[in-house]
Amino acid sequence: MIRVDKLNKYFGDLHVLKDIDFKVKESEVVVLIGASGSGKSTMLRCLNFLELRNSGEVTIRGEDVDPKKDNLNVVRQKVGMVFQHFNLFPHKTVLENVTEAPIQVKKASKAEALKVGKQLLKKVGLEDKANSYPSRLSGGQKQRVAIARALAMKPEIMLFDEPTSALDPELVGEVLQTMKDLAKEGMTMVVVTHEMGFAREVADRVVYIHEGRIVETGHPHNIFDHPKEDRTKAFLGSIL
Ligand code: ATP
Ligand code: MG
Repeated sequence: MIRVDKLNKYFGDLHVLKDIDFKVKESEVVVLIGASGSGKSTMLRCLNFLELRNSGEVTIRGEDVDPKKDNLNVVRQKVGMVFQHFNLFPHKTVLENVTEAPIQVKKASKAEALKVGKQLLKKVGLEDKANSYPSRLSGGQKQRVAIARALAMKPEIMLFDEPTSALDPELVGEVLQTMKDLAKEGMTMVVVTHEMGFAREVADRVVYIHEGRIVETGHPHNIFDHPKEDRTKAFLGSIL
């Protein structure tokens, strides 16, 4: 589905991602873990071309993406992203937030966008909030709108960058549940999260990044209970 070969990313002199090889298969859920500053967000941003790599290749569904030649807006439509801060449009209703991009970017008809938008709000449990403004929603509800908004573009893969980190603890569960439901439906997902319970339960694979390198990758059971690398052990010791 997505393949990354020998990806390198620098910010000036800072070498942030180092020879990253990474694959995500169709319907796979991969959780990225690692210390602050290890390069997790940069990695996700390279996958949807919010950041451009310095070298290496990113292939989506067998097609090499060349930022110089390909229309990145079209490529980005295949890759949905949800951030820690939801960035909803405050002056638009929930339903308008979800239908905006399909209408403006994908040129969907308003009727079609509304139909899909309502279905998606139902999916994330917010059909009764369609006409509310974001300021009236809880953080968990806002994040579920952000998920519905990303799904409205019919992405082939969804990237999540710490989607629950900004939420009050009691609101984390509802967002994780929405993500679990998506995973169950077969959505291909790459998730950066500190929610190790979610990783254990939902991830097919956990990838541990340390200082811009993938140190260890494997089934959650292997990574959490039988890590092979000392650095993985040290990291898990510091967070679990
Ligand atoms: P966190 O867990 O804190 O979110 P992270 O693993 O997501 O950390 P990144 O945000 O990918 O880490 O950052 C990796 C490194 O790149 C850090 O040293 C960071 O300071 C640096 N960095 C990130 N974005 C930029 C940028 N736009 N310009 C310069 N340096 C950057
Ligand atoms: Mg980050």
